[in-house]
Amino acid sequence: NFDWGSEISRLLLLAIAAALSSVIVLRARDLRRLSAIDRMTGVFNRGHFDERLPVELSRAGRVGRPLSIAMLDVDHFKEFNDRYGHATGDVGLRAIAERVRLMTRRSDVLARYGDEEFVLLLPDTSAELALEKLEEIRAEVQALVIELPRGLGQATLTLRAGIATCPDDGSNAAELVDEADARLFRAKDLGRNRIVGGGASATLHRAG
Ligand code: GH3
Ligand code: MG
Ligand code: MG
Repeated sequence: NFDWGSEISRLLLLAIAAALSSVIVLRARDLRRLSAIDRMTGVFNRGHFDERLPVELSRAGRVGRPLSIAMLDVDHFKEFNDRYGHATGDVGLRAIAERVRLMTRRSDVLARYGDEEFVLLLPDTSAELALEKLEEIRAEVQALVIELPRGLGQATLTLRAGIATCPDDGSNAAELVDEADARLFRAKDLGRNRIVGGGASATLHRAG
């Protein structure tokens, strides 16, 4: 026999259970997203990059497309910190991260690799195109005006980068990161504020 009272309380319980589980699912999704983000700059963190690179490499291999990565390092950042303080250093890092992010595609992955170093993953991008893109980024960052707090005026920062491309420079994550790192080091040796890539075109671009 049908009892309205117990049917309604059963429905109510079901509705509460459904609401609770969607709250949990949404919260889990939030946490997962947050765990991939570098809190200071708002771009992805190194853990996320380390997870994505092998996935993107196997996708690139499957579809037979090139993939490039670039390691970026802010030039003389310790001096900037020493002169203006760490809080202003943070403002500078955030400004650079935001500018680079705005210059990249949704499918690209920009991550803070550590300290004042970033890494950019460029799916479907040859060595030549990556060099062009990074040269644009280098020029934009050089032109970026950083407002100093307490009316101290404005400042600028520059960066350098090393690029490595799959399959030209290697086919696994470690080989690519090593090559990009070696070229980043070469960019410093050559005087900073420049990009060192591979490929047939040029081996380096230099600021004016
Ligand atoms: P180079 O041109 O050779 O790259 O020199 P550099 O001074 O940029 O590099 P170095 O590795 O000597 O110094 C990096 C500095 O970055 C030192 C450290 O205090 C600073 N740093 C690291 N993480 C942060 C951060 O989250 N915020 C700020 N403001 N500074 C940071
Ligand atoms: Mg560094
Ligand atoms: Mg540096």
